[in-house]
Amino acid sequence: MPESRDYVRDYVDEVGAAIHEAAHACAALYIGVELQYANITETDTRWGSVQLAEDNGPFDADKARKYIFVTACGVLAEGIFYLPQGGAKSDFRGIEKYLRLDIISDPHRARRDLMWGARSFVLKHQHQILRVAQELQNHGRLDGSAVSKIYHGQEKVFFTAEFINATKELEKRFDEEMAARHISRDEKTGMYLDYFDVFADSNFAAEAEKVYGECPADSKN
Ligand SMILES: [Zn+2]
Repeated sequence: MPESRDYVRDYVDEVGAAIHEAAHACAALYIGVELQYANITETDTRWGSVQLAEDNGPFDADKARKYIFVTACGVLAEGIFYLPQGGAKSDFRGIEKYLRLDIISDPHRARRDLMWGARSFVLKHQHQILRVAQELQNHGRLDGSAVSKIYHGQEKVFFTAEFINATKELEKRFDEEMAARHISRDEKTGMYLDYFDVFADSNFAAEAEKVYGECPADSKN
């Protein structure tokens, strides 16, 4: 999913972009959408993108749900991996676009459920996402089969100190940004509920409060 940016990114931002795109890519594998490639280098006006394979089947509710899930995982990765804010703007637009196609019954509920599913997925698959991100950082671009090998642990990934330090720096920058907005972490879970709320409509936020700290059970592993 393309992300626009309006400033020159540094190495830390680049790692953030790699994590964001890796989350989309892993989500596609998980939900069964064929992935052509993921990249963080396509043009200098984007964070990066993932390209899903074209298929000639109908764009039905099932496909729309899968696309929303894949898109939402980029959004949720931002809060979970402490990525620079704003990278997911086009993802929000994408999700709304699929919902407005009017092929999903009860789109409000679908969005909430799919966002929760995406949050659960990203939380549970953080290590796979980081492995894909490291390789994306190394190579700039990975095709679907390369992502699949990394995701399924068939390829050894060595994390560089530079990459690890960048993830720590991302978290530090995120903390600073949150502190500037007087938003603090939840004492119990260490997560930023308020930041998460930004993504949500009011019902979604109420739901988040109810089950905060727990993710709804995944229907898959
Ligand atoms: Zn995205």
